[in-house]
Amino acid sequence: MAGPPCAELHLHIEGTLEPELIFDLAERNGISLPYSDLDELRARYEFTDLQSFLDLYYRNMDVLRTEADFADMTRAYLRRAAAAGVRHSEIMMDPQAHLARGVALETCVNGVASALADSESEFGISTGLIAAFLRDRPAEEALEVLEQLLDMEAPIIGIGLDSAEVGHPPSGFVDLYERARAAGLRRIAHAGEEGPPGYITEALDLLGAERIDHGIRCMEDDALVQRLAAEQVPLTVCPLSNVRLRAVDTLKDHPLPAMLARGLNVCVNSDDPAYFGGYVDENFAQLGRTFTFTADDLARLAVNSVRSAFIGAERRSALLAEVDSWRSAQG
Ligand SMILES: [Zn+2]
Repeated sequence: MAGPPCAELHLHIEGTLEPELIFDLAERNGISLPYSDLDELRARYEFTDLQSFLDLYYRNMDVLRTEADFADMTRAYLRRAAAAGVRHSEIMMDPQAHLARGVALETCVNGVASALADSESEFGISTGLIAAFLRDRPAEEALEVLEQLLDMEAPIIGIGLDSAEVGHPPSGFVDLYERARAAGLRRIAHAGEEGPPGYITEALDLLGAERIDHGIRCMEDDALVQRLAAEQVPLTVCPLSNVRLRAVDTLKDHPLPAMLARGLNVCVNSDDPAYFGGYVDENFAQLGRTFTFTADDLARLAVNSVRSAFIGAERRSALLAEVDSWRSAQG
C-alpha cells in the first residue's frame, strides 16, 4: 500500500542534502571533501546519538555556498517529496549554521525561497518557510538573526528551535519567541526528543509553541500526555529519525502506536531524510509493515498532518478531500 497524501511539517532542508548532491556541489564550488567517494561518505551515516549526526550534518552543509546551491537542494527535496505523496510542506532552515561559516543570510534565504516560489506549479506542493534557531548557540545571536530576517522581509511564516537539545531548555529563548509573536510569526519548537518531558511543557508555556517537533518523551509523563491530548497539541513525530539517532532501539519499540491510542495529535515526518533512511513514504511503509497499520490508521496520521498545518481553510479542505479519496481507494 502506497502512503497517503499528507502534509510534511517537520523537515530540515539542510537534512535533505543527498550524498550525490554533496559531491556535485563540492565539485561545482571547488571544495575538496574529506571522503574519497560516495561509499565512504555513506559509511559515516551510522549514528550513535543526536550529536554524532549533527557533526556530520554541519560538516556536509559546507558545500552550500551560492543561491543556486540552496535552490538546487530545495528543488531536489520537493521533487522527491512529491513522489512521496507530500502535498504541503513546512520547511525549516538553519540560518545561523550558514552565517557562522560566512554565507550571507540573503544567499540562503533567497536560494531556498526561489525554489519554493515555483513549488506549487512545478510539484503541486504548497509550502511555508520556517527559520529554525540553534539552541546550542547564544539566544542573543538568535534574536539578532531574527531581527535581520524581519528587516530583509524574508518570506518566513514562523520560527523553530533545533540542534542539540539536552542542556539547552526552551526557557532560554523566551525573548526570541516573544519577538516572533509580536511580528505575527507562527511558533514551533523541538522538544522531548532527547530532552525530558519538562522541555515540552516549557515550550508550550514559556514559548507559546503551537506545535512540538518530536515530543515522543511526553509518554514518560502521564499528566502531560493528558494535557497534550486534551489540547490536541500537534506532535510532529519522525519514526525513522528516532531509530537512526537511537532515541528508540528499533522501530518496533517506537511509541507511535501508543501515542495514537492515547488520542494524541501525531503525524509522520521525515526530519532529515537524506540522513535517516527515507522520506515520508518510507516512514509510512515501514510503520505499515512493523505495526500492521490499516489504511484507516495511515489516513488518520495524514489527516492529523493536514489539521496541524499552517494553511488557510480552502487549502485544508482540499487536502482533507485528497486524504479521503485515498482512503476510499484502499477499499
Ligand atoms: Zn528535527
